[in-house]
Amino acid sequence: MPAAGDFTLLGKRAVLATMHGKERALHALLERGMGLDVHLPAGLDTDRFGTFSREIARPGSQLDAARAKIAAGFELDGEASVAIASEGGFGPHPALPFAALGREIVVLLDRSTGLELVGRHDDLQPVFAHAAADGPEAALAFAARIGFPAQGLIVIGLVNGAPDPAAYLDKDIESAGALAAAVRAAVTQCGAAHLETDMRAHRNPNRMRAIRRAGIDLVRRYRSLCPTCARPGFAVTERVAGLPCSWCGSPTQATRARASVCAGCGWRVEQAVATATADPGECEHCNP
Ligand SMILES: [Zn+2]
Ligand SMILES: [Zn+2]
Repeated sequence: MPAAGDFTLLGKRAVLATMHGKERALHALLERGMGLDVHLPAGLDTDRFGTFSREIARPGSQLDAARAKIAAGFELDGEASVAIASEGGFGPHPALPFAALGREIVVLLDRSTGLELVGRHDDLQPVFAHAAADGPEAALAFAARIGFPAQGLIVIGLVNGAPDPAAYLDKDIESAGALAAAVRAAVTQCGAAHLETDMRAHRNPNRMRAIRRAGIDLVRRYRSLCPTCARPGFAVTERVAGLPCSWCGSPTQATRARASVCAGCGWRVEQAVATATADPGECEHCNP
């Protein structure tokens, strides 16, 4: 492992502020990849920072939520120098119509040096789906499509067309029989049932893999050192526009280079993209 100078994590006590079995994806990776001494805090309840099943809304951004978990981890482990937390976000893809996007981040903070690193993984095919059901038959068909019971699902009462967990909520459904019973109960109470994939990591195998990939990205960023000051986390953070048009040579909005910038000393390295010129379709002179 390369020397990370003043920012080394080797042998430091770390608190892994995660629930829902995420330590299975991250614990060994953090110990082997960074040399951390990883502890799981007793009595952590990350659900208070927001749940996927809507009982508790998540405040702020994904990064804010991960930082709040990190603060909670430090509260529970006064000796830890380092805390790690993860956060997932799921929804429609911002750029591709009809596509879904799952974005996992794993955030590390060393409070003795101020080093913060963020590992990321974008999953273009997250297991993220929902359906309305008026009875067990429709529910079981949806369950078969999403890979239940390895992939978990939750049942919420559907009130006036909107899922309402205050009216009915069952998150602990392990079998087809339990699913049928939950749907009958929701329909009896609310008129219809809303089914959705359980996004908690221990009930979403696809998500567990994505969290692990975000963890691998975190280790990769830790090992990527600034060539000037050796601070970890030297990675591409900026896109530089201006790739020249292949017809007229004027700069376009297409990416010319990707830049890595050090958060410590500001050292900047630009790496040109493999393509030398942009399509005239992207040029405001040739294709105004
Ligand atoms: Zn042009
Ligand atoms: Zn630097």
